[in-house]
Amino acid sequence: MAIAPLIVEIKGNSLDDGPGIRSVVFFKGCPLSCDWCHNPEGKELHVELAFDAGACVHAGACVKACEAGALDAGRVDRERCTRCMLCVEVCPSGALRTVGRQATLAEILRVAERYKPFYRTSGGGVTVSGGEPTLHMEFLGELLSALKALGVHTLLETCGQFSLESYLARVDPYVDQVYFDIKILDDEAHRRHCGSSNARTLANFRALHVRSVAGGTPVLARIALIPERTATAENLEAAARFLRDCGASRVALLDYNPLWHAKAVKLGGTPCFARSSWLTPEERARARAYFADFEVV
Ligand code: SF4
Ligand code: SF4
Repeated sequence: MAIAPLIVEIKGNSLDDGPGIRSVVFFKGCPLSCDWCHNPEGKELHVELAFDAGACVHAGACVKACEAGALDAGRVDRERCTRCMLCVEVCPSGALRTVGRQATLAEILRVAERYKPFYRTSGGGVTVSGGEPTLHMEFLGELLSALKALGVHTLLETCGQFSLESYLARVDPYVDQVYFDIKILDDEAHRRHCGSSNARTLANFRALHVRSVAGGTPVLARIALIPERTATAENLEAAARFLRDCGASRVALLDYNPLWHAKAVKLGGTPCFARSSWLTPEERARARAYFADFEVV
């Protein structure tokens, strides 16, 4: 049995991550490092310390507990922090929090068992998300196969940076639906903003889409509309062209969610741009126009 990886959380009653009512397992760790990441808590493979300055009551117990001298006056010195989490244990307000914990296969299956009646009546199931679930291919295969044995619908949300061979051998047989994120089509810009080339992602999408058309696991392309990154005229035009070339006729356009700022700051990050508002209806309409010949879901 594969070692259980870290997860951020198991979210219940989600209506946003696939059909029906779903439980969503957010895995920790991602091979990409998008500078706008909406789920910054899922980026790193290791446990992290989150600090919510707004919830700090300045009780001072954490400063005393910190043997590394990394805490001072409501501030975490990330260079010094050893992630021992002693401060979390003494924080009276919950301002300090550990991000990441190990969840066993048995725990996730227990959750699925409990929610099965809701999945059944709503057409829902379990979604694996992240971070990037396929970073833990062996565990993922075991988990999804166990969920299928329970009769639970499974959905994979992926950035597409994985070994296709490994995915097809270990995971694909147990996935009912794939939501596949397409980000920046220009390779140089993808390297700059996402930390690596997009070549593997695009090749994997093409391969999975071909299989999907031939009766394999259905794959839906998703594009998160990130101002200054994915939602530029050039990128949306290039994305539509790429999807058309792959034979795709459906796409999901996801709204920009400015709440990522606050999450990134709590982990000690500095947001790469300052847009703190949602997309306007005009911006959404402009983005959709590039996909006029697609079914936009
Ligand atoms: S692929 Fe997704 S989870 Fe990974 S860094 Fe990019 S936005 Fe974040
Ligand atoms: S996690 Fe440990 S080292 Fe880091 S601030 Fe808390 S007590 Fe200090």
